[in-house]
Amino acid sequence: MQPNQIILASGNQKKLKELSEILKQFTIELVPQSNFVITEAVEDGLTFVENAIKKARHACEIIGKPAIADDSGIEVDCLGGSPGIYSARFAGEHATDSENLNKLITNIKATNEIKPNARYQCVIVYMRHAKDPTPLITQASWEGVLLEQPLGNGGFGYDPIFYCPSAQKTAAQMTMEEKAQLSHRGKALALFQQAFQQRYINNSI
Ligand code: IMP
Repeated sequence: MQPNQIILASGNQKKLKELSEILKQFTIELVPQSNFVITEAVEDGLTFVENAIKKARHACEIIGKPAIADDSGIEVDCLGGSPGIYSARFAGEHATDSENLNKLITNIKATNEIKPNARYQCVIVYMRHAKDPTPLITQASWEGVLLEQPLGNGGFGYDPIFYCPSAQKTAAQMTMEEKAQLSHRGKALALFQQAFQQRYINNSI
């Protein structure tokens, strides 16, 4: 099977920009779900995998085409892995990126932890149709250290405090290309690209 149109199941414009940038090497046409009339999927799963499946399935159901979804978030060790799957709504259901970021900075300060370790997680799910019993799932993470003060204007979400030791800068100080090389999303999409190629283009698994 070689689908010619795949829906990118995300309502987050900044995430969508990163996903499209990384996936532009695909020979298939990627269409954002915002091109259609579609409600947000209900993300009531307890894992990134469940929520990514819910988003992809929702887009397949409403639009009737194959869909790719990303579910991601940040885990902070000194907060017991929080906010994790709740990263987008850490400071409330419709919280902005800066409200979520400020809440994270405040909560970390309260722990007195110096240079707290954290990691971004990303799960990518591809479904051919809403009842696809074998979704294609890939996953990757990105280790970092959190700063007390935001640095940089790029990226989105928690990027201004997410310091990458190997690059010696925050994710918000990186170009989109630099971030794609190192990030949870870039790595999960590279794995996805390989798996998709093997399963649906070469038909070898
Ligand atoms: P989702 O859209 O429900 O998957 O929520 C993802 C949330 O995790 C975003 O709203 C951000 O708060 C956070 N997040 C995920 N990936 C990134 C990233 O690359 N940079 C910064 N924040 C991210």
